This record gives sequence, C-alpha cells and structure tokens, in this order.
Amino acid sequence: MKKNTRRSCVSAFLICIVATLQSCASGRVAMATPETVRFEVPDSTSYQILGLSIAQDGDEVVIRGRIRRLRQYRQPITGHIDIELVDPEGNSVNLTGVPYYPRNVPLRGSRQSRFIAHTEMILPDKIVVRLRRHTGTDNHT
Ligand SMILES: [Zn+2]
Repeated sequence: MKKNTRRSCVSAFLICIVATLQSCASGRVAMATPETVRFEVPDSTSYQILGLSIAQDGDEVVIRGRIRRLRQYRQPITGHIDIELVDPEGNSVNLTGVPYYPRNVPLRGSRQSRFIAHTEMILPDKIVVRLRRHTGTDNHT
C-alpha cells in the first residue's frame, strides 16, 4: 500500500516535468532565415505554391504554405504536397507528403488551400526545401 502511494507521487512528478519541458519547447520557435533556407517550387500552368515559412519548434521542423489555383485553371486540383529537404551536397535528407485543405483548391474566393508539415529533425545550417503537388498515393512517411 505504501509502495503504491509512492509510485503515484513519482508519476505525478514526472508528468509535471514533461509538461514543463513541452511548454519550454513550444516557446522556443526559431524562424529559419533566407540565408540558410532556399525554397524551390515548380512552374505550373495550374497552381502556385506561395506563403512559405519554415521554423524549428523544439525537435520539430514546421513548414507552412499555401497552394493557389491560377485564375484560368478550372479543373480539380487534388492530391497533396510533397516536401523534400535537400542538403547543400544535394542529398535528400527528408521527404514527406502532406495534405492541403480544402482538398480541392477552391475555384472561387481566395482560390487557396493551406498545408502544414511537422517533421522531427533539427534544421541543418543550410537547406533547400523542394515542394511540388503530387497526385499519386502517398508512401513517403
Ligand atoms: Zn507525394
């Protein structure tokens, strides 16, 4: 009985520590600067990828952006965004596919969908971020 009490105290204590660490981590958001990050997006006759940002948040890299339908393009724009991180030597260090919302880029209004990717990694000193729309099945997780 005594043992049980002690154990639950210990777990409560651990939960406190974890909660503290998590709040510290999310408070330490560092934006990557243009000198260290280069975004590469494709030329397309149907969409643009824009509004890109990348940030280190604790042990995660967070990449945000938007896909905008070109005004004259009326066909569905479905699929997801492939994000590939490439080091200065040209080696792919990370590849992920993220959905965008709305799932079909709207025909009216802003004509934009948004995406956000969370990847567990520490940003290297220099990185190239390649983004493209991909309509195949997603097996790059
Ligand atoms: Zn993909």
